[in-house]
Amino acid sequence: MSNPSLLILPGDGIGPEVMAEVRKVIDWFGRARGIRLDVSEDLVGGAAWDAHGTPLTDATMARAQAADAVLLGAVGGPKYDDLDFSVKPERGLLRLRKEMDLYANLRPAQCFEALADFSSLKRDVVAGLDIMIVRELTSGVYFGEPRGIVTENNERVGINTQRYTESEIARVARSAFELARRRQGRLCSMEKANVMESGVLWRQVVQELGEAEYPDVELSHMYADAGAMQLTRWPKQFDVIVTDNLFGDLLSDLAAMLTGSLGMLPSASLGAPMANGRPKAMYEPVHGSAPDIAGQGKANPIACILSFAMALRYSFDLGAEADRLEAAVNAVLASGLRTADLMGPEGGTPVGTAEMGDAILAELDKST
Ligand code: NAD
Repeated sequence: MSNPSLLILPGDGIGPEVMAEVRKVIDWFGRARGIRLDVSEDLVGGAAWDAHGTPLTDATMARAQAADAVLLGAVGGPKYDDLDFSVKPERGLLRLRKEMDLYANLRPAQCFEALADFSSLKRDVVAGLDIMIVRELTSGVYFGEPRGIVTENNERVGINTQRYTESEIARVARSAFELARRRQGRLCSMEKANVMESGVLWRQVVQELGEAEYPDVELSHMYADAGAMQLTRWPKQFDVIVTDNLFGDLLSDLAAMLTGSLGMLPSASLGAPMANGRPKAMYEPVHGSAPDIAGQGKANPIACILSFAMALRYSFDLGAEADRLEAAVNAVLASGLRTADLMGPEGGTPVGTAEMGDAILAELDKST
């Protein structure tokens, strides 16, 4: 049987710098744990524009479609600001998400013990936090028709339409139920069924799916505004949250900030199951290409490394190895090593991108 395949798209700015540390981690898993992945690398974003005059070639798109998983660094930068909208680096990323039909966006909010003081909330509210927000990514009010700005009765009217079909709700809810099953078995669905018909349908479909196929998962429902309050009051009450595109946009950013720096946040976008039963998937750090620190060896590689941990767990069925990698990150942070973005009032030992990667490898070495 062939090895699972991983397509790496480092992108622009700090993307290639943080990806170099992930490559070390991948090599370590091959060497020390016998985990063989067929890793290939290609261009996306500004790097692809420079080489090919497009932010994503058809050939790269085809390789992404064929891969078991895609890991992307970041795209964009000031060099490309004046390009036409249709060829901006971000269009490469959007094309990947759209053509791979990645409808479930997973944003974990996980607070490593050593960074609990980084949160704007009290330590005991966030320390040990581990929740997962699943946001519907390809439908809802950002895509619904009619949309636009029209003139009615001599004034301009802005129009967007929230629209969800039953199947769109069911497929993202299924992703969330499956995740809950692999975690603590609890799912909270958030909408505004009190004021929106799309919310009423959302609640019905999620409830029906839960009763029919996931009776083992404890399902609850919450209005999204109440959910925002509960996320800041006592976020540890949640395990997995599933919500629509608009509410998910807001709630996942809110939850991410519970845990501190942008340099720590991984994400995954999942689509329909492939022939091997695993979902089509792209993994990427939440942060951008950070042009202000690019090329200086200062970037925090942890968000990208944790994105690879998500790939181990969700695409390669290697949850225990993902736990091992996350534990190594935790241990390095506990030892006081800090990239510049993590340097808080309590200090720490300043390190650069490569030193942080090396320290994580040293912790991995201790784990075997
Ligand atoms: P950004 O995330 O690149 O940077 C915001 C701030 O966070 C900067 O001060 C940066 O130095 C810091 N930062 C980000 N990641 C870091 C890391 N790993 N380690 C240490 N510090 C880190 O957002 P921005 O400045 O708004 O955007 C810069 C470029 O990135 C733009 O071209 C934007 O379009 C693009 N962008 C791309 C993505 C993506 O590829 N998914 C996401 C957001 C922004």
